[in-house]
Amino acid sequence: MPPQNTGVAAPEDLRDRKLDSSKSDAKKDVKGDSEEWNYWDHLYPVNIFWFILLHVGAAYGLKLAITDAKFVTTLYAILVYKFSLFGITAGVHRLWSHRAYKARFPLRVFLAMCNSLSYQNSVYEWARDHRVHHKYTETNADPVNSKRGFFFSHVGWLLCKKHPDVQRIGGKVDMSDILADPVVFYQRKYYIPSVISLCFVMPTVVPWYFWGETLWNAYFVAVVLRYCLALNATWLVNSAAHMFGDRPYDKNIAPAENRIVSALTLGEGFHNFHHTFPWEYSTSEWGWKINLTTIALDFFEKVGLIYDVKRVTPEMIKARMARTGRHGHEVVEEHEYMWIDKK
Ligand SMILES: [Zn+2]
Ligand SMILES: [Zn+2]
Repeated sequence: MPPQNTGVAAPEDLRDRKLDSSKSDAKKDVKGDSEEWNYWDHLYPVNIFWFILLHVGAAYGLKLAITDAKFVTTLYAILVYKFSLFGITAGVHRLWSHRAYKARFPLRVFLAMCNSLSYQNSVYEWARDHRVHHKYTETNADPVNSKRGFFFSHVGWLLCKKHPDVQRIGGKVDMSDILADPVVFYQRKYYIPSVISLCFVMPTVVPWYFWGETLWNAYFVAVVLRYCLALNATWLVNSAAHMFGDRPYDKNIAPAENRIVSALTLGEGFHNFHHTFPWEYSTSEWGWKINLTTIALDFFEKVGLIYDVKRVTPEMIKARMARTGRHGHEVVEEHEYMWIDKK
């Protein structure tokens, strides 16, 4: 039986949120954004080559999807896209990076497999970079620092060496809780074989075996095109959702509410909310609205696969909006009226 939980983060939980509460202190560790560091001097030509090749291959995959591949192959590619993103959103993001809920062993295994399917670095590395991103948002130590522009925060950060502050801080992040999870340990140990089999081989073979698609079409549609789109969708959280949208919860930070990004990422675009309440399991206060991940997590909670789910209360949100929100007190009342999912 799952441990009992009120569904609301206890005050001591909030105080203990190392990822958030120590943030202002943490930023003192890094130098200002003006420090001289020219990324052009530290490019990774091999990464640049592979990402160009990936996008050319994805364009070709799109052509095949429209002109040659079976329709069911495209539907299958969309399904694989969603499962791969689920390994990011529910898995490495909400579960392992933020500990917004706890999950039973079988679900953790499933999430780790979806994570390998997404091929965005192992759970360990992804969570480490993400914790640094939250703690040092928009500083030199932020791996995806959006102050360096849309392109850098979208993909540019993968094309060059990490800023020295990112490397220095990344090595200091507390990852003991993550390493204590055997699922994370073995996913990291067998990361390459799991990526080859789940991200590349499985999506190629399934359409060929079950409905007679050519291996060529299956590879370019369900692997190359799907992988490229899922990567870009995830990157939009770091780029677009750090630039475009409203900031109702905290007007002092760059992350913004972006519904388009939410639609593309199964619910990860409510980014002003998420950076304000990073421990909240839903990354939004709007429940199932544009948030497939939350729909799935609510189901998993009902059947006992997840527990200790952390939730904000309307009172906490209103208090925060009145204090730091873009619209201040005026819109808080109206916001209360919009509160539809928590009653
Ligand atoms: Zn962010
Ligand atoms: Zn996050």
